[in-house]
Amino acid sequence: MTRQKSSSTPHRPSQGNRDFRNRIQRGGQSPGDKNNSDQKNTPRGAPQIPTGSATAQSGILLKAGREKSLLRRHPWIFSGAIERVDGAPDSGDTLPVRDAAGNFLAWAAYNPDSQISARVWSFSETENVDAEFFRGRIADALAARHELNLARNSNGMRLIHAESDGLPGLIVDQYGDVLVMQIGSAGAERWRDICADMLQECCKPACIYERSDSDSRALEGLEPRNGVLRGTLPDNVEVVENGLRFRVDVAAGQKTGFYLDQRDNRALTGTLAHDKDVLNCFCYTGGFSLYALRGAAKSVLSIDASGEALRIAAANLANNGLDSSRAEWLEADVFQALRTLRDQNRKFDLIILDPPKFAPTAAFAEKAARGYKDINLLAFKLLRPGGLLFTYSCSGGISEDLFQKIVAGAALDAGVDAQIVHYLHASADHPVLLSFPEGAYLKGLALRVA
Ligand code: SAH
Repeated sequence: MTRQKSSSTPHRPSQGNRDFRNRIQRGGQSPGDKNNSDQKNTPRGAPQIPTGSATAQSGILLKAGREKSLLRRHPWIFSGAIERVDGAPDSGDTLPVRDAAGNFLAWAAYNPDSQISARVWSFSETENVDAEFFRGRIADALAARHELNLARNSNGMRLIHAESDGLPGLIVDQYGDVLVMQIGSAGAERWRDICADMLQECCKPACIYERSDSDSRALEGLEPRNGVLRGTLPDNVEVVENGLRFRVDVAAGQKTGFYLDQRDNRALTGTLAHDKDVLNCFCYTGGFSLYALRGAAKSVLSIDASGEALRIAAANLANNGLDSSRAEWLEADVFQALRTLRDQNRKFDLIILDPPKFAPTAAFAEKAARGYKDINLLAFKLLRPGGLLFTYSCSGGISEDLFQKIVAGAALDAGVDAQIVHYLHASADHPVLLSFPEGAYLKGLALRVA
């Protein structure tokens, strides 16, 4: 079993904020910091053009009136808001962004290949976007998780949550002493090695693995990448969450290998499963199923389209010594399987719907809405009176409000009255920056039918 090295992980109780800040010396020049070598001795007060081939006159000038979102500290600059890009900057360069009158707004990473043409690193003109900047942001993210005591019930944790941790495009998940890094923007791509060095320095993991192979990279004009960045990947990576052990396939599993965001929701489900017939749709490696079984569910039927995920799920069940006679695993398309269960007149007391992202952006919202409505309608029909439905959407393109409307429509068409008993979100290691509502991608409703 892969165990977390307590002496090296940043958010263990024995290691306070100051500890990591001291270990990552601020102001040091990183070897990979070639783009900023001309700034080594620059006082922090002096604004600089910080990176790459961006020339002194490089910069982004916005159209009149298009500075509003930046003034509200939203970190994205869409191509349509840009009047002019001066100089000949490369993708990933840090540029100053100015309003139509020439006033400084932000330092942002430029990407000519994306609809999101720039992502803000800093709103402070006097801040240099250099290695020290990344040290500071990484240290802050680690310190927040420590201060919020997030390691108390799991050795798996999102350490860096991109825009919401002030690091657009950078995701870092921890599984014991393995870190998995996912890079989704040209800016984060530019600083990848510096960030890996910092993480190595402050977390001392056995391995930093890069899973930069999500579909969204193509939208940024970035090639997929998957492989070890630092150290050696152990044969078995495992996360221990609320006492339950889950194998994590870092190299080939979905996302970075595990769905850390559902940790608290899985725990809640476990507390409500006693003596219930449970249906877990889109079960992946058995997260909700194992909690339900430990919570003394009468039976748990788990469905997923991925045979490999189900093999890991069955192994997880065995590794936790749970009663396999109460568990049934089905490799199937949920849309089809729900219809079959309806036709068989099967009934359940608790149903979980945790589908993949149907709408990566708002452009897919309508099609996604049909998908959500379909599975929720079928699930309502499969519930016994008094039954519970835990239904989720992780689509960035579907707002919380819209999701609730879709589910309400599904209940209406299914002919059931239902109450919302919990509004559900991602766990606290996935914080949402107040000025960046897009960070709240995961929303869920726990409903009780009358
Ligand atoms: N609840 C899980 C995470 C679910 S992720 C957890 O707590 O770990 C979504 C899952 O849906 C993935 O495992 C994926 O394989 C599966 N999936 C995607 N489309 C599917 C479909 N049409 N039918 C069944 N499973 C599907």
